[in-house]
Amino acid sequence: MKKHLYANWKMYKTRSEAQCFLGELDCVVDKSIGIGAGFTLLSDISMHSKSLGIKIGAQTMSEHLEGAFTGEVSAKQLKDVGADFVILGHSERRYLIGETNEVISKKVESAIGQEMSFILCIGENIEQREGGYTKSVLKKQLTTALCGTIDKYPSSMIIAYEPVWAIGTNNSATPHIVNDINSYIREEVGELYNKEYAKQLPILYGGSVKLDNLESFLSQSHIDGALVGSASLIAKDFNKMIQMIERG
Ligand code: PEP
Repeated sequence: MKKHLYANWKMYKTRSEAQCFLGELDCVVDKSIGIGAGFTLLSDISMHSKSLGIKIGAQTMSEHLEGAFTGEVSAKQLKDVGADFVILGHSERRYLIGETNEVISKKVESAIGQEMSFILCIGENIEQREGGYTKSVLKKQLTTALCGTIDKYPSSMIIAYEPVWAIGTNNSATPHIVNDINSYIREEVGELYNKEYAKQLPILYGGSVKLDNLESFLSQSHIDGALVGSASLIAKDFNKMIQMIERG
């Protein structure tokens, strides 16, 4: 399977900083590279990023299509400004904003209904890992998030395994651990839908991926790429990561 690379810019970059960043990137041939940017950047940078062959996406969205939901942004509005995808269920949304598995499930349904590609993030925190609950936590996150989609499996879903303890800590999980977990996620997706679907589903890893450890993750059979936070903010590094993905 081809490898994927997605950036999560979080709440960083102004429009001019984002344009400068894109100006430092090479064009990509593979269509498996994307940047998850803040809402205010999307309209401005979507043309530029698409001209480079890079997808652009948001980092969350409302589960509602439209209505009196002050401060929220819908899938329809995201598509209107050129977003190709949305990140759903990121742990910073789960823990800082209080998004539950049930809310994430509604967002997944809305994304599918609006034909918006999405990256579903799942991952355990340190207490859950140390308590031996990693797989049961992941199973619950996965089954709840996808429970409304069982009859119409998502054709443009990507899953990112992002252990909370590895995000922004410089303490990435080992490629071996991630490969084992991603293989477990694939099995569970196979149970929910079918094995063929699970086989071709991209399952990424995110959590302190940098230029110097990306290759070690990419070399694993069940790691189909990376979702990169802080290291994706540096254009020079992100460009080198893109080249790594393009080389295959
Ligand atoms: C993330 O926020 O999705 C992430 C993986 O962050 P970092 O790479 O900084 O750990």
